[in-house]
Formats: sequence, structure tokens, C-alpha cells
Amino acid sequence: MLLGFRGSVQLAVILFSAIFAVAQDSPSVSADQIWNDLAAGNQRFVTGKTAPEDFVAQRKALIKSQHPHTAVLSCSDSRVPPETLFDAGLGQLFVVRSAGEDDDAVVIGSLEYAVEHLGSSVIVVMGHQSCGAVTAACSGGKSESVNLDAVTAPIAPSCAKADANQPGALDLAVRDHVHRVAQDLLSKSRLLKKASDEHKLTIIEAYYSLETGKVTKLH
Ligand SMILES: [Zn+2]
Repeated sequence: MLLGFRGSVQLAVILFSAIFAVAQDSPSVSADQIWNDLAAGNQRFVTGKTAPEDFVAQRKALIKSQHPHTAVLSCSDSRVPPETLFDAGLGQLFVVRSAGEDDDAVVIGSLEYAVEHLGSSVIVVMGHQSCGAVTAACSGGKSESVNLDAVTAPIAPSCAKADANQPGALDLAVRDHVHRVAQDLLSKSRLLKKASDEHKLTIIEAYYSLETGKVTKLH
């Protein structure tokens, strides 16, 4: 059936409204698809076959806006840069880093900004092998400053859950800390909790192995 011009316009308006409504209600890319893309990028990093990036073109295309699907909270450790580990270009990852990936108010506020204003629908909380912050927290020694205490104090409860004499105790503490931070993001932030409850946000817990280069999804 042929539609007149007015009918075509009305149909287009209805379709546009429907598509826009869907886009408002749910992320345009699923959390599974986003993780699959991250895992594929990490696999390229692991095998040394990273994709060539045209940073000049990317930079120019992103001058006015950014819409990163993924936010990453990771340790500041020089060996764990998320953009490199996931073989990501400009505009793909909104990255927040602190020693021991702790979640103070500034960190949570940064993640809220990514979710609320940039449309990020996945937050990856990533710990890693041989984390110095976790090692310091679990050593039980006194820090040299109140600021260093602020880094290690939030990790201490995770140390208590692992028997220091057991092999792999540090790794257990790293993984427990990642889990605690992921839970804290929801308990400390009404905005992130609301987005999660409305299925607009998925929090993924992850662990990076320095030995293999692989990022493993924990939860
Ligand atoms: Zn670390």
C-alpha cells in the first residue's frame, strides 16, 4: 500500500518515537556484547596482535562529544593501563584509577558522571595480580602518612578474609576487595543503584593477570 506524504511523515515520526523510547529505556548495546568486545580486545593484547589505531581521526571525531559504553575502575599501577589491556581507542573507555581501585567519593562521583551524562552502561571494577596497595594493606604495617592510610584502610577487611600463610592469600584478598568495591558502588551511590535496578547499568568484577596478560571476568 502506498502512503501519501503526510502518512509517510506520520509513520516516520511514530517509528522514530518508538526507537527513541527503546533507547531511553535500555542500553543500545548489551552488557554481554560490551564484555565480548572487551574480551576480544584483551585477547588481541595477550597475543600481541593489537589493532592499528588511527588516533588522529579518532581525536578529530571526538572533539565535541564522547559516548563511552564502558567505565573502568582500576588500580593506578603502571602495569595495568585499561586502554592498553583492552586494546581500546580514544572515546571507548571512561577510566577512573586509584591505588588499589578504592572507591572514595571522587571516584564514585566520576563513575556517576560516566553513567548519568555519558551513557556508560557497564562499569568494570578490575583488580590485578601482585597489587602493591593490597600487599601493603595485608602486611599490617603502619603507613608513612594519613593519605597512604586512606589507600590501605579500605582494603584491610579483605586481608582478614584470607589466611596470610596460605599460598595465593594475596590473590584472594585482591579478588575479595574487587567484590567489595563493586558492592560498595551500589550501596554508596543512589544514582548507580537506580541505574542498576532499571537494568541500565551492569557492574562487572574482573581480575588482571600480569603473567598472562588476560583479564578474567569474576562476576
Ligand atoms: Zn594495584
